[in-house]
Amino acid sequence: MSNKDSSLKRILGQLQKGAGLAPPTLDEAEALMAGAEETAIEDSRLLGIADAVVSGKPLDCPKEPFDLWFEADATSMNDCEQLVLNRNKGDLDSESKKTIRNAEKKALGKTRTKLDWLARQTRLDRACQAAEEIVMGQVAPIDPLAVAVSEGRNLLRIQGEDFGDAFDGQLKYHHSHQCFLMLYNTKYDGSVQDSHHPRTRFSIGHELGHYFLDKHRAFLMGGGEPHQSRSEFKNDDIVEQEADAFAAGLLMPSELARPLVNEDNLSIPLIQELASVFNLSLVSTSLKAVQLSDFPCAVVGIRQGLVCWCFCSKPLIDTGFYPPEKRAPKSNSALAASSAFDAGDGVAESGSSYTKHWFRTYDRNDLENLHVDEHYLPVRSMGILIVLLTIPEDELDFKVGE
Ligand SMILES: [Zn+2]
Repeated sequence: MSNKDSSLKRILGQLQKGAGLAPPTLDEAEALMAGAEETAIEDSRLLGIADAVVSGKPLDCPKEPFDLWFEADATSMNDCEQLVLNRNKGDLDSESKKTIRNAEKKALGKTRTKLDWLARQTRLDRACQAAEEIVMGQVAPIDPLAVAVSEGRNLLRIQGEDFGDAFDGQLKYHHSHQCFLMLYNTKYDGSVQDSHHPRTRFSIGHELGHYFLDKHRAFLMGGGEPHQSRSEFKNDDIVEQEADAFAAGLLMPSELARPLVNEDNLSIPLIQELASVFNLSLVSTSLKAVQLSDFPCAVVGIRQGLVCWCFCSKPLIDTGFYPPEKRAPKSNSALAASSAFDAGDGVAESGSSYTKHWFRTYDRNDLENLHVDEHYLPVRSMGILIVLLTIPEDELDFKVGE
C-alpha cells in the first residue's frame, strides 16, 4: 500500500468515525495533496479534506452517511470504503449504485416501529427549531431572502433566475472563494413583482436549511456533492425532509402561527387564510397547521393515487395514531375524490371514514374504528389532493392516556 493510500485510508477511517480520532499528520496530508495533484484527482471532497488538514482546521465532516451504511449492514466495512471512494470519483457501476441505494433506503426508510417514527420526527423537529430561532421576533410574512442576505456576501452569495424545470434550488460550496452559492428558481414568480411566489420562498427556505443545518453545511464544505432540490415535501430522503422542515419552520414559525391555528378546530378555510397570512403554499401551510394544532387532526397528501405524506397533530400522536405507509388510500370516499382529482373533474368537499383507513396504531387495536371526517382541498398546481382528517373530540374522550 502506498503512502497516499494509507493516508487516504486513515482519513476515510476518521470520516467514518465522525472525525473522532486524531487528524492525520501534516506530512500525511501533504502526501495526500501531492498525490492528488500528481494524479489530477478531480475529487473536490478529498482535496477539501486535505486543505482543511493542512490549514489546521478541525475535520468537521458529517458521520451520518457512513454510519448509515454500516447500520444498514448490506455491505462490509471495506465495501463501504470502496463505495465511498468510487462514489466520490463518480465512476460507480450500476450494481454498486443499487447497493448504496438499497443500503440507504434500508437505513433511512425504516419506520416500522413507533421508535423509528419518533427518531425521524425528532430530527425534523430539530431542523424546524433551528429555523425558528433564526427568525424569532419577526412578523409574518417572513422574508427568507432577507435572512439569506443578512449572512453577507462573504459567506453566502445568492442568485435567483428562471431555471425552467431544471431544479427549484441548489446550494454549493466554493472552496476557492470559501463561500456558499445559493441558486433558486424564479419560474413560479411570473408576473409577481416585488415579492416572490410562495414556492420560490419555500425553495429559498429549503436551501437555507442546507446552509444553516450543521451536518448539511459540513457535508458540502467537506466536498459532498451538491444536489438539485425540488418542490415541497416531495422527497423521502431524510436530508431533504430536514431542509423542508427547516423551510416550513422559517416561513411559518410556531410562535406566530400557533395562536392563529388554535382559534378554532382546523378547517380548509382556516388553512387558506393562514396560507395568505404567511405567504406559504397550501401544502406547507396545511401540514404546519396540523403539527401546531391542539385538536385531534391530521393532513394527508395524495399524489397520483398514493398517500405520499401524512402529518398528525400532537393530540393525535399522544393518543396513539401514527402516519401510514405510502400506499393507496383505503377510504372509499377519499379514493373517489382522488380519482376525480386525477381525471381533472370536480372534487367533493368532504367524506368520512374510520381511523383504520388512515393511521397506524401499532399495538392499539382499540383505536381502529373511530369516526374520521375528511375535508378535501385540491391543489392542481402541485398535483396534490390535500385531505384534512379530523376526529370528533368526543370519539377520543375515553382513549387518551389508556
Ligand atoms: Zn435539498
